[in-house]
Amino acid sequence: MAYVSGEKRDDGACPFCVPVAEAQELPELLVQAGQLGYVTLNLYPYNNGHVLVLPYRHVADLDELREDEAAELMSLVVQARVALQAAFAPDGYNVGMNLGSAAGAGIPSHLHFHVVPRWAGDTNFMPVTGDVKVMPETLDQTKRRLVEAWPT
Ligand SMILES: [Zn+2]
Repeated sequence: MAYVSGEKRDDGACPFCVPVAEAQELPELLVQAGQLGYVTLNLYPYNNGHVLVLPYRHVADLDELREDEAAELMSLVVQARVALQAAFAPDGYNVGMNLGSAAGAGIPSHLHFHVVPRWAGDTNFMPVTGDVKVMPETLDQTKRRLVEAWPT
């Protein structure tokens, strides 16, 4: 699952560059495959339900997105939030992106939104910590809940 792990593939290719056809059959972590972008669980979530929303196209910055891509990405972010609310009922969210290594981007060459559910009293703050938490449910369970809750 190198494409979500934030680690480079052995061949040095971008781990977020997933061909559309491949994304449709994607494995365990894919939550939603859109026309221009997709939603996947983060393999190393900061919290339960942490998803990434990203374009298929390899672009590093917002001004490189076409308008149709930007519109679909925002739409996927909205859908992800709706699904997360239905599936997990968190108290709040962090939604955002880290542009550039200095801002904390693990893969600065391929932009991606983080959508992270937050609960009152959780001490986790995504831009500050890269630590892996012990999660009360498996990614498998998280994916199932999100897919079932995804708005149609
Ligand atoms: Zn890429």
